Amino acid sequence: MLSKKFGTEPVHKFGRLISESSRIVLTCHVRPDGDAIGSTLGFAHLLRSLGKEATVVTPDLPPRTLLFLPGCKDIVAYSRYPEFAAKLVGEADLIICCDFNRLSRLDAMEPVVAAALCPKVLIDHHQDPGNFADVTFSCPEMSSASELVFRIICEMRMYQDLDLDAATCLTTGLITDTRNFSVNCSDPEIYQVLIKLLEKGVDKPRIVRLALELKSLDCLRLQVYALDRKLEIFERHHAAIMTLDKSDLEQFNYQRGDTEGLVNIPLSVDGIVYSFFLREDDDCIKVSARSINSFPVSSICEELYGGGGHRMAAGGEFHGTLEECRRLLVDNMDRYDEWIRPNSSGHI
Ligand code: 5GP
Ligand code: MN
Repeated sequence: MLSKKFGTEPVHKFGRLISESSRIVLTCHVRPDGDAIGSTLGFAHLLRSLGKEATVVTPDLPPRTLLFLPGCKDIVAYSRYPEFAAKLVGEADLIICCDFNRLSRLDAMEPVVAAALCPKVLIDHHQDPGNFADVTFSCPEMSSASELVFRIICEMRMYQDLDLDAATCLTTGLITDTRNFSVNCSDPEIYQVLIKLLEKGVDKPRIVRLALELKSLDCLRLQVYALDRKLEIFERHHAAIMTLDKSDLEQFNYQRGDTEGLVNIPLSVDGIVYSFFLREDDDCIKVSARSINSFPVSSICEELYGGGGHRMAAGGEFHGTLEECRRLLVDNMDRYDEWIRPNSSGHI
């Protein structure tokens, strides 16, 4: 049995909002990852099995690596179909926001959702949720928004309505946000959640292969190039920085999603406590950070790049050149040395 995580009031209120709605839009953060897409699509499948017209509307397109998810091709990306996406949001009876804490994470789609008059429900596992929603399920201690969605479904007594497609999407969110149960997976109950999803017939090895491992040759070569040529180690600060500029990306025919997971790799070097990856995108420098030993990269992302996320997995955006972005981090590293602590076994 899973323990109850939410009060009866928000669960009932959400259940009532669902039963009173026929058109439901689900949305997630810009540059969606496996959890953003898994949680929204997973919930959408459940709502459809209840007879609802449920549509996933995202700020921009999901990465190719997630196209295997059932229903992924039906997602409406605001970046591609702004008018249609705005119409769907404007005509919705209910908007369910998954895997982000502030409307600003919707990027260019923010004003569209902010202007929608219908009730909104937030389902998220980031710190500091904004209070834009009528019902908020915020659990920063949870592995993923997909785990939250699953638990809400169970607490609404709808587990029996969850089909294989829904379970596949939710399991993908769990697998990607925990990197196949290697991080954010200390809560024993997460394995009970996994068991209940597997009981729906989910093919976990297939998800691990498609969502985490499978790469194009260009993508593999881009990652090898980044590690070989673009990785800087700051031994004294226990830090790593990797940068990729536009010409690096072009050289390897970069597609969205191709650098997914790259930021984790320097953490496999003994003594590296935090790792930053800086990528020159069209509109900004995208910052991605990961750490071990509870080193708070979210604080650095917030302070230097106006971003945030989780303590050991965070990100941000920088407006300026790639070198300015890198410099800002390097110039501040001294200040972060005090956060480097040995773990419980005395290791850095
Ligand atoms: P990633 O490095 O995979 O893009 O993101 C890691 C985590 O940080 C995710 O939980 C993501 O939601 C969060 N994150 C990434 N970029 C930003 C950002 O620009 N602002 C905020 N607030 N969070 C971000
Ligand atoms: Mn997430």
